[in-house]
Amino acid sequence: MRLQEKFASMKAWLEKQPKTFKQGMSAFLVLVLVFGMISAARANGACAVEVDGQIVAVVKNKAVAEAVVNSLVKEQQDKVPNVKSLQKITYKKTGSQTDLVSEEKLKQLLAQRLTFEATAAGIEVNGSLKVAVKDKATAETVLEKLKQSFQVGSDFKVDFQEKVAVVEVPVKAERVLSPEAALSRLKGESDTPRYYTVKEGDTLWDIALACKVSPDDLLANNPGFEPEKMQIGQKIKMVGVPEPIINVVAVAEKTVKEDIVLAQQVRKNSTLPFGRTKVIQKGETGQKEVTYKIIAVNGLETERTILSEKVLKEAKPQIIERSAQTMVASRGYRPGGAILSPFGMRNGRMHTGIDLGRPYGSPVGAYNSGRVIRAGWYGGYGKCVDISHGNGIVTRYAHLSTINVSVGQSVERGQNIGRIGSTGRSSGPHLHFEVIVNGVPRNPIGYI
Ligand SMILES: [Zn+2]
Repeated sequence: MRLQEKFASMKAWLEKQPKTFKQGMSAFLVLVLVFGMISAARANGACAVEVDGQIVAVVKNKAVAEAVVNSLVKEQQDKVPNVKSLQKITYKKTGSQTDLVSEEKLKQLLAQRLTFEATAAGIEVNGSLKVAVKDKATAETVLEKLKQSFQVGSDFKVDFQEKVAVVEVPVKAERVLSPEAALSRLKGESDTPRYYTVKEGDTLWDIALACKVSPDDLLANNPGFEPEKMQIGQKIKMVGVPEPIINVVAVAEKTVKEDIVLAQQVRKNSTLPFGRTKVIQKGETGQKEVTYKIIAVNGLETERTILSEKVLKEAKPQIIERSAQTMVASRGYRPGGAILSPFGMRNGRMHTGIDLGRPYGSPVGAYNSGRVIRAGWYGGYGKCVDISHGNGIVTRYAHLSTINVSVGQSVERGQNIGRIGSTGRSSGPHLHFEVIVNGVPRNPIGYI
């Protein structure tokens, strides 16, 4: 029964009572009504929301305040299930009807004051907490995906280089990452892509140098980009070298059949006329069975050791006799064997050199005399040597297993600079050979 109705029914009953009683009762009822109205107004009235005892704002009633708080908590819980506010929220009735704020404003004010904490699954690397995700199952999935992304082949056993553990940790809700964000954080990928703007006179090499990546990786990150048609002001996506938090090591033992090709032996013969050669013994390709132990770190082969080797068929070297009169070489020395993969577009990606086939460990000769300007690990190229021949011509020898030269060293045409390998982004032993003229990779076929 509403107060007014109660009052009306009481008034009707009062009409039947003696006068003095009537008067006294009337005064009493007025008082009851007044108190009733006051308490009703208070129960349904303005409400102050306090965080740790400090007033944040006043809204029109408690129901509104609670609804705002609940929606804030729910938003956090959708991200992380067991989230809790670290502060104590209290509601206080207040008589003051001034300075009431809207629900949106209260939400905004509370969001600034409240910190939410959750019990999340932390991924610890060598004992220090690196990433937090919502629960243990999510953490395990992220770690499994990380392993899979660097699974170089089905026969590889994959493990982490670092000591990795999943632990339960209390963390601020905003530190809890989505599985995708956690994975890219662990891989060391940067969150926001940066762009390089092409300047006048820039070559592919200048840009790659500025971006601290290899020209090959730069092209891979910019499909459709043609260095020869580069425009001033054009934007090129820079993807820095990732610095992984966890490194994935894949190990496999592989047995493969390989050709044995022996180097050609040349003997000088003073009786032969100028420019003439004579084959004394025809070369024969042999075959061997080799078992390798292959180690790849983050998808790139870093090591390959021979565990055992069995010759299936002996090889014979080609022996030729050449005129003793000196010849002027018009073309460069061919540093490898048959062409396995040509220069140009390959699977929608620019192949900046040619892949030359030669058995693992075969010597690699310098294309021409020059100076070594790079000798070491170079991203996807693996172990790599660059030789500058002057006139803006540089040759590159990639995926080597060993390097026999060092930066600054002068080399002769055909001099052994290293051995065929499969280091870096490589699907098997071969030489990736590039000819770079004024910073632009050219088809090496025109040069060898
Ligand atoms: Zn290649």
